[in-house]
Amino acid sequence: MSAFVDHLRAELGTDRDIVRDDDDALQAARVDKSGLPAPGVPVCVVGALTPEQVQIVMRACSLYRVPVVPRGAGTGLAGGATAIDGSVVLDLSGMRRIVRLDPDNELAVVEPGVLNADLSAAAAPFGLRFAPDPASAAIATVGGNIATNAGGLRCVKYGVTREAVLALDVVLADGRRISTGRTTVKGVAGLDLTALLVGSEGTLGVIVGATVRLVPVPRGSVHTVAAAFPDVTAAAAGASAVTSTVERPALLELLDAASLERIGALLGASVMADAMGASWSGDAFLLAQFDGPGAEEAAAAAARALGLAGGEVRLAPDADAGERLVAIRRAFHPAMEQFGSVLIEDVCVPRSRLADMFHAIEAIGARHGIVIPTVAHAGDGNLHPNFVFEGSEVPEEVWLAADEMFRAALELGGTLTGEHGVGTLKARWLRDEIGDDLLALQRGIKELFDPLRILNPGRVFG
Ligand SMILES: Cc1cc2nc3c(=O)[nH]c(=O)nc-3n(C[C@H](O)[C@H](O)[C@H](O)COP(=O)(O)OP(=O)(O)OC[C@H]3O[C@@H](n4cnc5c(N)ncnc54)[C@H](O)[C@@H]3O)c2cc1C
Repeated sequence: MSAFVDHLRAELGTDRDIVRDDDDALQAARVDKSGLPAPGVPVCVVGALTPEQVQIVMRACSLYRVPVVPRGAGTGLAGGATAIDGSVVLDLSGMRRIVRLDPDNELAVVEPGVLNADLSAAAAPFGLRFAPDPASAAIATVGGNIATNAGGLRCVKYGVTREAVLALDVVLADGRRISTGRTTVKGVAGLDLTALLVGSEGTLGVIVGATVRLVPVPRGSVHTVAAAFPDVTAAAAGASAVTSTVERPALLELLDAASLERIGALLGASVMADAMGASWSGDAFLLAQFDGPGAEEAAAAAARALGLAGGEVRLAPDADAGERLVAIRRAFHPAMEQFGSVLIEDVCVPRSRLADMFHAIEAIGARHGIVIPTVAHAGDGNLHPNFVFEGSEVPEEVWLAADEMFRAALELGGTLTGEHGVGTLKARWLRDEIGDDLLALQRGIKELFDPLRILNPGRVFG
């Protein structure tokens, strides 16, 4: 392996330690935010700054048959960017130039390491933004968002990352560089390889550039409404009332009793009462926010629908009051972290089965003697059950409960993952969801892109 590292250094040079094999670098590349132990130690970490450097790495890895793990900011929750034994971890986070902002065509050309929030901040003076808004927007890269087809709170109205990607610049496993997609509004020539690469989790190619759609920041004020319900069944019915009777909300979130208890412990009863009113009570909390033209009327209509559905409704009179309601939802992750290490899960079911999935999670938790606080992007049927545990290793009991939870989601017509990806974490369940024929077809596509199986091997397809 030292011959391989020498080869890389000879090709890439030794400026700013572009090829690192010191213990600090190797250990840092073994973790992401999934809580999964890395399957191994890399031989080195390459901090590429140009597509040409990525091509050099891929050619060398093809020659020496060395696995490559593409990596953005390492905020992934599926164990997709952690080191594989004897691999090169290809760190793209240094490629962070916004190459072009084109307000006339409402698009941006970016390098993969640009942070999601930085792109929106750069587009803001033009009244535009990058629509995908994972809760990790401030720390995750656009390349990582594309590779995982990231979602977020706003995708109920503005769509997931796939809808925001027009064209990709990609280095293939053998070092060839291709461009997919186009920058026109329309275009249907040939197969849509851009869509195929979005969400491919570093298994088909390395994204070295992207042309992404920007959307206008909605004009006017944002209007927020929240409702407390006696249980998640009633709250899920409230969510359907919102999605079926009024304008599409820009955000529709549901918190269960276990989540509310922990958020209350973090924020304190007075903050909760200040947001929701002193008489507030309930074991489920639904939050809806509306933006754009007609937002005020839509929020008022949602408030009426939630009242009719049995909710104790709070229609925020102004932006500050709305922000206090949203703060309850935002406190979810910090509230979990105050009690230990957290495995953030991510199942998605048809919206009409949301309450069933909440109940399945509660029953699974009761069987295993663990409480599983759960928040849902209710407008998408996407639930994030959180497992909180002591220490850094996920206990076996938690994996057993997670296994039952994935199966429950599939039985309800749902999926193993709404937005975090398969990575390492869920590779063993993929066959259960897509079946033998689709898995064989997908492995065939992987083989076509990566015949030597050096790109993120073992991830997604097992
Ligand atoms: C607090 C918190 C909140 C989160 N909230 C959300 C959320 O709301 N919605 C959501 O979808 N996710 C969320 N995530 C998960 C995570 O932030 C996203 O999956 C994000 O898109 C990963 O970006 P990254 O740059 O960190 O990628 P990494 O973690 O570095 O990589 C993720 C995957 O993408 C591949 N990859 C990365 N860059 C490239 C590239 N240039 N070319 C090819 N493959 C590449 C990697 O190999 C890996 O498989 C959250 C994470 C945290 C910690």
